[in-house]
Amino acid sequence: MKKRNVRIWILVLVLLLCAGAAAYAYAATAVRTSEPPAVTFAGHTAAPVRSSFAEPVLGGLLQKRLVEEAEDLQIDLGTLSIRSLPLETDLQLPALWTLWNGESQVFQGTPLEYQAFSYTENGSYRATLEIDLPESTEASAADFFYEFVFELDVQPKVLFSSDRALQGDLLSVYVNRGFETTPPAIETDLGAVVFLPLSPDEYIAYVPVNYAQELGKWDIKVQLSGQAYTQPVIVTSRTYGKQHMIISQSTTDATMNNPEGPANWANRIKVLWETFDEEKYWTETFLEPCEGPISTEFGLYRYTNDNPVPARHSGIDIAAPAGMPVLASNSGKVVRAESIIYTGNTVVIEHGGGLKTYYYHMDSLNVEEGQQIERGREIGKVGSTGYSTGTHLHFEVKLGRSSLSPWELFDGSSEVYFTGDYFN
Ligand SMILES: [Zn+2]
Repeated sequence: MKKRNVRIWILVLVLLLCAGAAAYAYAATAVRTSEPPAVTFAGHTAAPVRSSFAEPVLGGLLQKRLVEEAEDLQIDLGTLSIRSLPLETDLQLPALWTLWNGESQVFQGTPLEYQAFSYTENGSYRATLEIDLPESTEASAADFFYEFVFELDVQPKVLFSSDRALQGDLLSVYVNRGFETTPPAIETDLGAVVFLPLSPDEYIAYVPVNYAQELGKWDIKVQLSGQAYTQPVIVTSRTYGKQHMIISQSTTDATMNNPEGPANWANRIKVLWETFDEEKYWTETFLEPCEGPISTEFGLYRYTNDNPVPARHSGIDIAAPAGMPVLASNSGKVVRAESIIYTGNTVVIEHGGGLKTYYYHMDSLNVEEGQQIERGREIGKVGSTGYSTGTHLHFEVKLGRSSLSPWELFDGSSEVYFTGDYFN
């Protein structure tokens, strides 16, 4: 054999050995898969339609890939009627979100940038999310691909919780303003009412029906971009009881006959009837602020010291021993925490939209004006301060000037819990 042929054979052998070694290294290299990042779009939790993992072989000379594809290539969200469609994922991840309406691309950027995006028209949308994770000590480089399709059909919507009410009820009005840019307005002779924002396009208003509201038909009128929506509401009577009570002359003289009483009441309590925070502070059901038997029911006619003209009891009296904790019925802002001549140690909490809870006759207080507090927090202790004959908590729910029944708030049946389309 010639020397040249020998060299060629050696070269072929070396190449074969290299290829063999490479094939062996490729086969022996494991692709390390990882769990896909958590992704939720418009409230729907999504799995990737495609996951691809790449592991370097021979120091990056080759790449070994593993591709997993789901059977359903798109996640169909159906028809969505709300304009705010949040994309929730770890904002630190390198991710690209692309959105098309029909054939035209309307957005491309990171999930963080998408937070500032707003939809301006209805249509057939498609969205893709690509998350590229670099190689780590635990996993191969990975590429997760998600795809969504949905119809956006946003229409302005005004929903009234009911067309009838009992005296002392609360009604709700839900508005989704669709693509309108001006907020809705509301007006009713039932009381002063404001809209509270729930999301960029949704609003709720709480309408009070005072415990002594004149019976009959009352209108609630909503204006949304020049369009008027009117809902008549039939108010029917609630049944109220009667009570006779004796209050000592010394207590009456110190409180109801105190010449400074009316001004103190007007300046410190009645002014709160006109204030409305335009933010909803609460999410859960209102709770009973203190345990004990009801000694005076809501709305009852009370005859004090044989006076033939009854006073009305606009809250509930909960009989409880002195020192028992009094809890905030719901989350909100403390708008009054001080001693008042008529009502003793008093706390008032604003829950949003002018809906407030009032706590009277306490022994001591442990919150301060301006404080934001959580539902169930202790605000003071039961006592018998002010115009009171024994230890009890007077608890009252008011919206503006109207006093409302607390019972439907406690048991969850009140229309204050009406959510319209908010959670669909
Ligand atoms: Zn009372």
